[in-house]
Amino acid sequence: MNHIEYTQSIPVAKEHDVAVAGGGLGGVAAALAARRAGKSVLLVEKSTILGGLATLGLINFFVPMCDGNGHAVIRGLCRELLELSIRYGYDTLPETWRGGEAAPGEQSRYVTQFSHSIFALALTEMVVSEGIDLLFDTAFSAPLMRDGRCLGLITESKSGREFHPAGVVVDATGDADVLFRAGVPTVQGKNYFTYLAKAIDIAHCKKAAASGRIQDAYYGVEGGGATWWGANQPENEPYYLGTDARDVTEYLVRNQRLLLSHIRNDPRDSRDVAVLPGMAQLRTTRRLAGDFTLTTEDVFRSFPDSVGVICDFEKRGDLYEIPLRTLTRRDFPNLITCGRSVSAAGYAWDVTRVIPPAILTGQAAGVIAAQALSENCAVSAVNLEKTQATLARQDVWIHIPENLRPKTNTVKN
Ligand SMILES: Cc1cc2nc3c(=O)[nH]c(=O)nc-3n(C[C@H](O)[C@H](O)[C@H](O)COP(=O)(O)OP(=O)(O)OC[C@H]3O[C@@H](n4cnc5c(N)ncnc54)[C@H](O)[C@@H]3O)c2cc1C
Repeated sequence: MNHIEYTQSIPVAKEHDVAVAGGGLGGVAAALAARRAGKSVLLVEKSTILGGLATLGLINFFVPMCDGNGHAVIRGLCRELLELSIRYGYDTLPETWRGGEAAPGEQSRYVTQFSHSIFALALTEMVVSEGIDLLFDTAFSAPLMRDGRCLGLITESKSGREFHPAGVVVDATGDADVLFRAGVPTVQGKNYFTYLAKAIDIAHCKKAAASGRIQDAYYGVEGGGATWWGANQPENEPYYLGTDARDVTEYLVRNQRLLLSHIRNDPRDSRDVAVLPGMAQLRTTRRLAGDFTLTTEDVFRSFPDSVGVICDFEKRGDLYEIPLRTLTRRDFPNLITCGRSVSAAGYAWDVTRVIPPAILTGQAAGVIAAQALSENCAVSAVNLEKTQATLARQDVWIHIPENLRPKTNTVKN
């Protein structure tokens, strides 16, 4: 592509301690954690609701937050947001997990579905009432960098182009957009052909009327139906990047045409597509190449710089500690990430990108951003004992408890 030089003076908006780009659940968690640490926080979201893939993307399901044997592993803000997700809407939380703890040995999982729309409304209420400055319909477009430091975010919105100065910037775009444009090393992912929407029809409405459960009124319709591990990926279908406008458009056009072809011959008056996803349902687009990259080799490994413990949503019992180094890159002192773009490779990327770990890494990123400002140091150089103590007070598990390690396993270092 040809390039042109373009210079423009940009209005400077209010300065914040912490600016968070992206209001998915990772970004919401980061904003809440930094705000609760007493910092002024700006949260910039390009769409018109909070929650990202979990709400706008119609992915209304918390994968397991427990180890599959009765222990709630992902706790803290994740538990708080799970409870918020079902406070005003339907749920499928097993009775044994109400209250957030089950008896040891419990085999049901700590999981729930939720109303994506009602959760989005509740998130807005929470974020605003806690004093976070929220900008909807505002897209981050570029970081302003000087000597490796990010001075703040340039955004595009109905107000035009603006610069938002900030002390620390959290990249919660899910696509590592801030990091990439700041020159931080990143890794491009690839994505299968998945496009899920929600429909209603007369038969499902009758089912809901009979059961008294509104969620029975909906059923899923899809364009591409590939699973997260690639089953049902059509032969010859390309993988999608999710980091290029033409690639995303191709993904959307192909999926929307396919979905229409699936439903166009149904009786017209008896069904409707109730809601289409408002963002591309792409899982692993781009991530940080961090100071450390988590892999499945690290299962049960103990890290001195752990900022939380997560479980594997597929393999009962498997636990990972998340090192701070998966959120940072040492040469970039005031940039940190969370959610889908933390530094994890292969299947470990899948384990870290889902809702509960995204909230956990968001919470850690917010705590660390606030602490780096208070300690006047890089995000990668915060006093770790203090970080871990803060997160532990917020009910985050920092290290894997000995009794949850496999009997034959010695602690990996
Ligand atoms: C098909 C699919 C199925 C899934 N199934 C499950 C499941 O069953 N259970 C589960 O727990 N997880 C599931 N996940 C994963 C999960 O939904 C997300 O990965 C998780 O919510 C992590 O979110 P995040 O906050 O990191 O990113 P996202 O949810 O992607 O949030 C990023 C936010 O940043 C905003 N943004 C992006 N660019 C900009 C910009 N330039 N300026 C401003 N804002 C911007 C976006 O609008 C969005 O709100 C699934 C994902 C997919 C795609």
